[in-house]
Amino acid sequence: MVFVWWSSLTAAGHGLLEMLDPAERTRLDSLDRPADRGRSMVGAALLRVAVASHTGIAPADVLVERTCEECGAPHGAPRIANRAMAAPWVSVSHSGLLVVVALSARGPVGVDVQRVSDLADPSAAPQWVRREALFKARSRGPEGRGLVHELEAPLAGYLAAVALPADDGQDVVIRHWPDRGWSLRGEGSQK
Ligand SMILES: [Zn+2]
Repeated sequence: MVFVWWSSLTAAGHGLLEMLDPAERTRLDSLDRPADRGRSMVGAALLRVAVASHTGIAPADVLVERTCEECGAPHGAPRIANRAMAAPWVSVSHSGLLVVVALSARGPVGVDVQRVSDLADPSAAPQWVRREALFKARSRGPEGRGLVHELEAPLAGYLAAVALPADDGQDVVIRHWPDRGWSLRGEGSQK
């Protein structure tokens, strides 16, 4: 079972900063454009909320490791590094107004969302998001070779996909945060 958590830029606010760690706050300070700051803030917070919901620990206690495998800077894809529990695999993506996190207890996941109008060739968007999702899952290890599902994005004009671990079944459970008032779609499962 893979959990997919959606949020939007409208969730950005100073209250979220309390959840974040010093490296995440430093990264926010380095971003000049308010929209980039908002997406980065909501992405970091949503990742913590999703892991907290899955594991029962507090969002601020989630240890997120982002060391880049190429250069060692803290801008790589996130891993959950808490030692005292079975850390889930996670993936984060944002585009336009939307932020999405995928989480699996079974193996590497990859998720991608794309505002279609941002692409040079909007007709390529379905293949684009599938390829990105699969790339993210595969970059985490040989188990990340599973199936790719299209996701229904909670706002119009976006496409999204999630790559599931090969042995994690077919169930995708959808959540919205902080509530579902901003979304066109409700909670539930998607197959
Ligand atoms: Zn790097």
